[in-house]
Amino acid sequence: MRVFAAGLQSETNTFAPWPTGERAFAEGGVRRGGDVLTGKAPDHQTAQLWRDLCARDGHEFVTGLFAWAQPSGPIVQSVYEDMRDEILAALKAQGPFDVVLLFLHGAMVSMGCDDCEADIVRRVREIVGPKAVIGVELDPHCHLTHALVGGADAVVIMKQYPHDDYLERGEELYGVCLAKARGEARPISALFDCRMVGFYPTTQEPMASLVERFRAAEREAGVLSVSFAHGFPWGDTPDTGSRVLVIADGDPGLATRLAEEIGREIYAVRDALLPRFPSVDDALSEALETPGLVVMADTADNAGGGAPGDNTSLLKAMLERGVTSAALGAIWDPIAAIACADAGVGATLRLRVGGKSGAASAMPLDVDATVRAVRERHSQAGLGTSRAAMGLSVWVEIGGIDVVLNSIRTQVFSPDAFTGLGIELVGKKMVAVKSSQHFQTGFAPIAAKVVRVATHGAIQMDFAALPYVKKSDLNYYPRVADPLA
Ligand SMILES: [Zn+2]
Repeated sequence: MRVFAAGLQSETNTFAPWPTGERAFAEGGVRRGGDVLTGKAPDHQTAQLWRDLCARDGHEFVTGLFAWAQPSGPIVQSVYEDMRDEILAALKAQGPFDVVLLFLHGAMVSMGCDDCEADIVRRVREIVGPKAVIGVELDPHCHLTHALVGGADAVVIMKQYPHDDYLERGEELYGVCLAKARGEARPISALFDCRMVGFYPTTQEPMASLVERFRAAEREAGVLSVSFAHGFPWGDTPDTGSRVLVIADGDPGLATRLAEEIGREIYAVRDALLPRFPSVDDALSEALETPGLVVMADTADNAGGGAPGDNTSLLKAMLERGVTSAALGAIWDPIAAIACADAGVGATLRLRVGGKSGAASAMPLDVDATVRAVRERHSQAGLGTSRAAMGLSVWVEIGGIDVVLNSIRTQVFSPDAFTGLGIELVGKKMVAVKSSQHFQTGFAPIAAKVVRVATHGAIQMDFAALPYVKKSDLNYYPRVADPLA
């Protein structure tokens, strides 16, 4: 058989003021053909997995474009269309194909399209015809639409948040799609709308047990795959929200029944799933009273969810409270990073830090900063075994706090965002990271305690108050106490 693979991803924050353009994709990663097969990002690794599985099974494997951009506002329409059309042109030119595997995000919004993934799948179908099998791997922070699920033969969503299972899900998708192509399985999908908007880390209860429940359901006879689309609250689309997806083998009744059963189990614990984070002041008090290293997560300024990454409110509060023996990162501030790099290691300078992108960034801080280290092409361990670029980055000491300033916008995934610059975390009182959840894999092992903090950044967890305009159904929890009643 002939298998084609491509990927196009971003998690569009429609409330973010800046568009996602060509530079954002160039910085995130745009690779083609053989270059995809040497990349270290999750999408590249997944392409390499599919290549290896095809080699094992004697199928011919062709790679198209794989592109990813750090999230921001809606994608510039021509940028989206150019990349989409490049994938489609390769599919057409190198076809015919029996199976098409797509690594998409699920929350990609362009200036002219609220559901880029369904748009891509519909156009792929026009090229490959009704008999070819189309499989899609998605991030759980997706808008899982009927158009997408109905257009593809199988959609498989990462179960874990942090999304460390992208390769497992890639293998699962490959298995379902190739089984269908061989005529050995008849995947039938059903969706259940939980009527919820939320944030669901799988490292804690009740979500951890629910993930085990999804896995147990997959072991039931006739069940091919169970996914929970968390939804992406900061993407305002007609279909924003949490949904369960079940793929059964030839049995629509089973798929529908199980999707509703699991969806109602999630719904039943919706109150326990609702995030409740302390204020910055309360969080700092809690951290200062806790023995050992406390990891504080500035969840609202997570670049991975489209926030700018240069909000200063947590650093300001730490300085005002006189916190020392602490580290904070990464503040996205290429201007300050350049000034520090030019001043050189050992220099002390008056520096304007952060607060530059917009209202969600708070105000810049004018501080005395001492440059401790400079790295031109800094990077950190990313999801799974991937690496995440940070660009020109500096370690500056500001009032007893070791601060990382970076130039390629990214959330903090791993301690080496700090230690890679020479900042020692062992023995510190606290380390503050700009990330909502992906930091857990790297930081939980060194943390005496993890405290998520509600700052006034771009990614607010007050889901009842999100200013939706396009979302068609406002009958959702927590805006409504019991929307399924
Ligand atoms: Zn995600």
